[in-house]
Amino acid sequence: MAVATHCPYCALQCGMHLRVDDTVTVQPRDFPTNRGGLCQKGWTATDLLDSPERLRTPLARQGGRLVPVSWDSALERVVDGIRDAQRHGRDRVAVFGGGGLTNEKAYLLGKFARVALRTPNIDYNGRFCMSSTGACRSRCPTSPTPRRSCSSAATPPRRCPPSCNGSRRNANAAAG
Ligand code: SF4
Repeated sequence: MAVATHCPYCALQCGMHLRVDDTVTVQPRDFPTNRGGLCQKGWTATDLLDSPERLRTPLARQGGRLVPVSWDSALERVVDGIRDAQRHGRDRVAVFGGGGLTNEKAYLLGKFARVALRTPNIDYNGRFCMSSTGACRSRCPTSPTPRRSCSSAATPPRRCPPSCNGSRRNANAAAG
């Protein structure tokens, strides 16, 4: 059985199929952002499903050690921490989302920040993560509009976002 879905790791949301047999394996899917390509993170997206290091229960620090606790206990601890911080002002807490969130989840996160927590502080990882990907792409020497040497010049193409690999393919085709 193959299930059409998207890579959950970054905002490109590359299209993929998950083939479910005894194990779950990834197959790329033709989609406007990846056109059948995936980067290394997408290809290995299912590796963590059966990793022995995968977290399956919340951990809380007790006496300097992280120990498994119930979800109720972990969430109570989060609520207590937020309440404690907000005794000094609503804006003492911030919410940090991610480019991998769906539009609906990003909307709910914004509502949670503004309506439930009543903090104006909300941001997402694009400021630190995807902005560097964008800078990488704009500086890529094989991009159709190269500017200067790119720190990713020595990066194996399989680690670059598929859109960059597309640039490389296009540039190679133009040069060839
Ligand atoms: S660029 Fe890589 S990490 Fe981002 S969605 Fe595509 S396969 Fe996943």
